[in-house]
Amino acid sequence: MSKKICIGILGGGQLAKMSTLAASRLGFDISIMVKEMHSPAGQLTHHESIGWVDDELHLRSFAQHCDVVTLENEFVDHHRIEFLEKHGKKVYPSSVTIGLIQDKLLQKQTLKKNKIPVPAFIEVTADHTFAQIAKKLGSPFVLKSRKMGYDGYGNALVNDEKEFHSAVRHLSNRHNNLLAEAFVHFTMELAVMVVRTPNEIRTYPVVQTIQKNHICHTVIAPAQISKALAKKAEEIAVASVKAVKGFGIYGVELFLTKEKSLIVNEMAPRPHNSGHYTIEACVTSQFENHIRSILELPLGSTKMVKPYAIMINLLGKQHPQSKQDLYAVALKHPNAHLHVYGKEGSRVGRKMGHLTMIGDDLKKILKEATALEETISL
Ligand code: ADP
Repeated sequence: MSKKICIGILGGGQLAKMSTLAASRLGFDISIMVKEMHSPAGQLTHHESIGWVDDELHLRSFAQHCDVVTLENEFVDHHRIEFLEKHGKKVYPSSVTIGLIQDKLLQKQTLKKNKIPVPAFIEVTADHTFAQIAKKLGSPFVLKSRKMGYDGYGNALVNDEKEFHSAVRHLSNRHNNLLAEAFVHFTMELAVMVVRTPNEIRTYPVVQTIQKNHICHTVIAPAQISKALAKKAEEIAVASVKAVKGFGIYGVELFLTKEKSLIVNEMAPRPHNSGHYTIEACVTSQFENHIRSILELPLGSTKMVKPYAIMINLLGKQHPQSKQDLYAVALKHPNAHLHVYGKEGSRVGRKMGHLTMIGDDLKKILKEATALEETISL
């Protein structure tokens, strides 16, 4: 009997879990490396390896039985990926791509160099004052940690000198190096998933993302924008992926301004929250195309199977209840697709699951999904 193809994933959260489900459906094995046991993805495989990438021996023995390695977030130091590549392992995204993406300053410089529109930005050094930055970028501006930022942790809106000092102190706890960006007065936030192999490149429909407290809350697919703008957004997203020499799947986040210009906010070298709707709403989900792409297999159609989809994130609430009768309303709904990630602990704002509805009437599914979210307490 021939050995099954095995995919190694560094990380075991919801993105790894949904990728594992997609891989398993195609008959592939998954091996997970996580810092702690019982991760959402680890619960689905016999190969849950506890440890992390800084332990070289552990990393090598993990990778040894994997045909390809991928990761669920961009926080793995690119030198660790390079280490695997030096030992002959294929990793998607590559160390070069991760190196260009995981530092938000380098990412912006790379995009800018490739003529991709990004907000005005500067590197912030220890001797910078609020006034100097405001003179260059205007006020307010957004201060960001260069690495390790997600769901808005690592960002601060700065209006004056006092806020600047407090933001520098607060953000430096996350990562020492900071950048500042001009505040973009956007009218809409958009996202495009791009999937690429050496042979093909495909985009998913442009979606609108609505954030609450800097965390993605609702996704509307497709975004209600003109065809011409959607085409432009797709072109920018493809150019962004090419700029970082990216293969595999990528989420590209954009701002749409009042003047109808598109500006890239950031990109993620992995399945993306804005693409969860694709599980039910597209012929091939982002997770399946992610798996196909890292194995360099033919990609599946990214077309939607219904005109519209709504995805709402289910964030941890004040009084979480995990018994399934507490989301019985959602289970009884004839058109709701409920995903519960199975995380060990809930906390306010933590991504615990999501809800998708697809249909022919956008207003109706948006109203129904919003009402249903209220009934769920994870
Ligand atoms: P993270 O990496 O933590 O997701 P982002 O840089 O994507 O952080 O920012 C999170 C959210 O903060 C964005 O979706 C957007 O709403 C807001 N934001 C970020 N940068 C800017 C900016 N330059 N101008 C206006 N809003 C911004």
